[in-house]
Amino acid sequence: MSHTHAQSPDARTQAIVRELATIHEHAGRDHRVGEPGLFSRIMVIVDGNVPSEGDSASCYLTPVKAPRSGEGYYTLTANNGAVRPAEISVDEAKLSQQDSEVATLLDAYDWITEQGLKVATQSLQVILISNIGPCTGCKARLQIFYSDLLSAAAEARSTVAITVESIYNTPEASRDSTRGNAIPTTYGYPSAARTPYNISGNQGAYWLHTLPRPQ
Ligand SMILES: [Zn+2]
Repeated sequence: MSHTHAQSPDARTQAIVRELATIHEHAGRDHRVGEPGLFSRIMVIVDGNVPSEGDSASCYLTPVKAPRSGEGYYTLTANNGAVRPAEISVDEAKLSQQDSEVATLLDAYDWITEQGLKVATQSLQVILISNIGPCTGCKARLQIFYSDLLSAAAEARSTVAITVESIYNTPEASRDSTRGNAIPTTYGYPSAARTPYNISGNQGAYWLHTLPRPQ
């Protein structure tokens, strides 16, 4: 039984705001020592169908992944995984290889290739939702993931429009930081668009970055 509804712009915004709250709830529970880490999940809207928790037939929400859960293909350090781009240092890749996005991207890739591309007739909106914007390493991972989706669609002879977005709601669009042994990284996209919402009087804003379509 599906709980999906045909999309209106409001349905999308409502789901995004709901999931930002879910992510912050997870992050808050983790917030015993220092600052909460980056939690993430991906929402896949298929042909306008906006997912609710548990949907996986015609649209999808990945589980919420926690910091230090990342492993496998998108680590950029695995032998048989995605290739580390030159602009990402070995140190940056290693420091971020267990980030939550690493697990989230793989889970979303699996659903999209096993189900999403089979059911979609028009569009796949892939939205990475997190409490903090992705670090430099994970921004590269997200771009690689986008290329992988386009390759998978071509292989499946699907012509659906695929978009990938990153949404988070920190005070600033981006923040320069350091990790590990003073390795610089930037969380979030400096050019992200501040996107206000007002849902039944619940007002706020989130940052939205639409990834450029890979060549
Ligand atoms: Zn990261």
